[in-house]
Amino acid sequence: MSVSVEVAGGIAQVVIDNPPVNALSRDVRAGLIEAVRTADADPAVRAVLLRCAGRTFVAGADVKEFDLPPMEPHLPDVIAAVEGAGKPWLALIHGNALGGGMELALGCRWRLAVAGAKLGFPEVNLGIIPGAGGTVRTPRLTGIEAAVELVTSGKPVTAARAAEIGLVDAVVDAEDAVAAALAWLAAALARPLPVALSARSVEAPDAAFWAAAEARVRKAARGAAAPGEALASLRHAAGAGFAEAMAFERETFLRLRASDEAAALRHVFHAERAAPRPAELNGITPRPLTRVGVIGGGTMGAGIAVAMLNAGLPVRMVERDAEAAARGLGNVEKIYRETVARGRMSEAAMAARLADFSVGESYEVLGDCDLVIEGVFEDLEVKRAVFARLAEVCGPETVLATNTSYLDPEAIYAGLPHPERFLGLHFFSPAHVMKLLEIVPTGATAPDVLATGFALARLAGKMPVRAGICDGFIGNRILKLMRVQAERLLLAGSTPAEVDAAMRGFGMAMGPFEAQDLSGLDIAAYQRQAARARGQESFAPVGDLLVAAGRLGRKTGGGWYDYEDGKAQPGLPLAVGASIEAARAQVPAKTRARSAEEIVDAILLPMINEAAQIVGEGIASSGADVDLVKIHGYGFPRHRGGPVCYGRSIGFATVVARLEALQAEGLAEAPCAELRAWA
Ligand code: NAD
Repeated sequence: MSVSVEVAGGIAQVVIDNPPVNALSRDVRAGLIEAVRTADADPAVRAVLLRCAGRTFVAGADVKEFDLPPMEPHLPDVIAAVEGAGKPWLALIHGNALGGGMELALGCRWRLAVAGAKLGFPEVNLGIIPGAGGTVRTPRLTGIEAAVELVTSGKPVTAARAAEIGLVDAVVDAEDAVAAALAWLAAALARPLPVALSARSVEAPDAAFWAAAEARVRKAARGAAAPGEALASLRHAAGAGFAEAMAFERETFLRLRASDEAAALRHVFHAERAAPRPAELNGITPRPLTRVGVIGGGTMGAGIAVAMLNAGLPVRMVERDAEAAARGLGNVEKIYRETVARGRMSEAAMAARLADFSVGESYEVLGDCDLVIEGVFEDLEVKRAVFARLAEVCGPETVLATNTSYLDPEAIYAGLPHPERFLGLHFFSPAHVMKLLEIVPTGATAPDVLATGFALARLAGKMPVRAGICDGFIGNRILKLMRVQAERLLLAGSTPAEVDAAMRGFGMAMGPFEAQDLSGLDIAAYQRQAARARGQESFAPVGDLLVAAGRLGRKTGGGWYDYEDGKAQPGLPLAVGASIEAARAQVPAKTRARSAEEIVDAILLPMINEAAQIVGEGIASSGADVDLVKIHGYGFPRHRGGPVCYGRSIGFATVVARLEALQAEGLAEAPCAELRAWA
């Protein structure tokens, strides 16, 4: 049984024991109803202490039931039974009280949090809202302001903060928490019983409060619907009676549960849980990870070093000369100083991390590193020289990794000894912040070396995705295509501002042109030059003209936009307009105005097609992996689930048909065989 009842000293202890996180499975829900009956029927029981076994209170709904229709007993009924019980209940919260777990606690007369506990409503992160009274009881307990923050943000609060806003009655020490709770309960029983939350009312705020809250929530949501729906439910709950508010909340919850947004966020949730432990690596032990070497202390090297230090791994950095080594140290220190300045780290913690860091010119110090990551210039010969040297100083067990973006890892390590210990570890900039890590085995990479890449990701809190070898791997290959589509749209009559606005409207963190202005147009231009030198086509007629004119983006005061005081100026810069005209003369295209939806189609549908091609070639193991790459490395809106999930939601047959229409306009390539198979 996952719920047990034991009576002693007039108190029934109801204990939920459903490992690993005491999720509210159907079994637990039924057990709680039974526990209410048992406690109510026992004349020896004065009150109930509800607590959980294991490492946490109820951490939420049961993920195994996510995709099933709701099953009886429904959670709102369970909580109503607890709240309406003849004996008053006290919830003792340790670990996490999240979602349904928090709602269950709200059904009790009192709540205690153990120091270190986290409490909150993460539902909006799954495209839904609390569906068992979270939006109705919370404002009746904490007041509307705290409830709005808690429910619409999806972010949990600490035990101390929960006590401050009245979400819990008190905080107790972790040691002897049960004894402390029993003593607290004995004292509480000597006082008048608090009114059940369902019988309380809310002080309704004025219209100005709601207008401000709505603007704030909408901005943070980036086009996701759930946070706004949560706000609407709270607003309704503040004005309506309890039963009516519960009905409204439940109706919203069930509607959202069936939405594309919730399906997309569930898809991402499942993909993220599966990614760090791919089935192919089951039973394979990774090599040890105790000390890491990093070659190069530029943008990537410094970020990677900080990511490793933050994961608890001492780092030895090697640069090409003393001057560059000093710059490398400066780059690492700068990242830490900024972190401290933002209040995200103490001076002492920074000093401790830096004590684990050294930098110099000699490769000899790398002898005892069990992983070395290379982040030097994107130049095949420079990289090959680095690995030849590493092969001399490192033992055969040391894992060697390249952070190349576009070079072929096979070519980087060709002919060097022990190729089984070599792979690509493609971090994203800034490497201490960005979650994505593309892990790129060569044909020779040993399974335990691949497993070491995934182990490193888990240690450093990265989202690992296995990628095969091709130009740009998964992420940059799709990025390149997206930029091609963006330029095709310019030739076909759209402006950079129209394209950027449409993509932001879809939910992208940034449009393709403003993103280029931020990173600098020269980086992509350099890649195109290298690709052309390899005999590949690289389409960017307007971008090429801007680079030739010295318009490299924000850093030169202008790129696709003009900048003043760091702000993009409205209107099409004359030079950009002239470049578009010049490119149109070279590549004749029919121009016409396009709606935001048409622009989004012309960019996203080819991305879906490319994703299918990438899966078809075996470069990505699944569409879900492509989705993770775009969400965690490229600002793709999480609530759309990634390009493949989005394609599935509109229907792959529809994607094929619309791609064919775009192809007829000269705006896209033909749908690939894999996409047709998906359709
Ligand atoms: P960078 O120019 O900022 O840094 C390169 C560093 O390597 C310099 O500090 C240089 O002194 C050092 N270096 C050069 N030759 C060396 C040698 N022989 N031994 C030791 N150090 C040497 O470049 P970056 O942006 O950090 O890029 C580094 C690598 O990471 C490239 O392969 C790049 O493609 C890849 N990458 C870059 C990004 C990005 O956004 N910048 C993202 C992912 C991957």
